[in-house]
Amino acid sequence: MSDIPACPQCGMENTYPDGDNYVCADCGHEWPMVAAASTEEGAVVRDVNGNVLNSGDSVVVIKDLKVKGSSIPLKQGTMIRNIRLVDGDAEHIEGNSDKIKGLVLKVCFLKKA
Ligand SMILES: [Zn+2]
Repeated sequence: MSDIPACPQCGMENTYPDGDNYVCADCGHEWPMVAAASTEEGAVVRDVNGNVLNSGDSVVVIKDLKVKGSSIPLKQGTMIRNIRLVDGDAEHIEGNSDKIKGLVLKVCFLKKA
């Protein structure tokens, strides 16, 4: 029961959840729940060597990969330019190779160029 925090305004513990907010019964103060999801926004995306990847980086594919929905394999050594990070997903990035657009790639098969 007592994982509801005390009111940050008046310090009383007569607080209760209401939708996405906590509400204090004593002073009427409302404040947003800090959801566990907020830690995922800060997830750091790392390549196979542990280097941090950011949107706009270029990466190189380190092994031949089959591409879902394409008959062309993605060859080892292929450069993926201008990658995009996937929200809340530290294991995949999006990007385009010269031949294949809209790739979603596992970062464990990529290294920063
Ligand atoms: Zn209060």
